[in-house]
Amino acid sequence: MFHWDNGLKLTRADLAVDFRHRQPRAFISHAHADHIARHEYTLCTPQTARLVHLRLGPRPTLELPYRRPIEWGGLRLTTFPAGHCLGSAMLLAEDADGRSLLYTGDFKLGPSATAEPAELPSAETLIIESTYGGPTYRLPPRQQAIQRLIELVRGTLDAGAVPVVHAYILGKSQEVTRLLTDHDIPVLQHRHIYRVSQVYEQCGVRLGRYGLFGSDAPSGWALVVPPRWHADEQLGRTVDIAVTGWAVDPAVRYRWKVDHAVPLSDHADFDQLIEAVERVAPRQVYCTHGPESFVDRLAERGFDARPLGRPAQRRLF
Ligand SMILES: [Zn+2]
Repeated sequence: MFHWDNGLKLTRADLAVDFRHRQPRAFISHAHADHIARHEYTLCTPQTARLVHLRLGPRPTLELPYRRPIEWGGLRLTTFPAGHCLGSAMLLAEDADGRSLLYTGDFKLGPSATAEPAELPSAETLIIESTYGGPTYRLPPRQQAIQRLIELVRGTLDAGAVPVVHAYILGKSQEVTRLLTDHDIPVLQHRHIYRVSQVYEQCGVRLGRYGLFGSDAPSGWALVVPPRWHADEQLGRTVDIAVTGWAVDPAVRYRWKVDHAVPLSDHADFDQLIEAVERVAPRQVYCTHGPESFVDRLAERGFDARPLGRPAQRRLF
């Protein structure tokens, strides 16, 4: 049902999937920069369409709302929530001969403050993004990470300093904002983050009491900024906190130049990746973006698993 041509393509529909360079027809699973390009014609969820248009300008797009199948290019195509960020989708493709393929894109199982929880339909062939496919990438329980974030931010405010939370612009920043405002901590956002947050709000995802950061922060407010942003001196004393799944690696504190790092992820960790494969119960699994050893871990569990595409690169998200 698919082949590899510098990227994943659904053969019958001649549909490129998450290509980073322009294609005649492409499906975009979500609006992170490493999954989008200025395609001639795009298929994606309505929420992803808004985010892509924000980044790349208006483009010809066919919107695929979750769980509403369409017949397209000889296939039946259906999107399902991927639990990763606003609009993130898995794509299920089924052909007239009863074959089925599920492409996960970036995904996460379990709850999220700002993304619909992932749904996993079963499929004969699974193509899975296995970013955290090494067993060292086991994340602590989500509640524990959230509690740590709130404690750090509250402690900073109580000490009269400004908490500066570093998070990726699309997805993590909005989730962090919602977690803080749910705990009665108002948030000022960097302008790049604020633009994306407005799309969240337009799509019905409420982020609570937040605003646009100008140059200083009133006492009692937290700042949410892109990774490695530097405060200027007029902000006074700051405590910098990174929120990223990579925080399971202690070196992230030095790489991001922050005081603390909280391991809250919008990617499935190793255990969730295994769980996802078990739930989809495919006949074949193809792994992308993760370490090759993940293929071996699946084979040990009795799955017919193979790597897909070029050797894995460690990729920030
Ligand atoms: Zn992503």
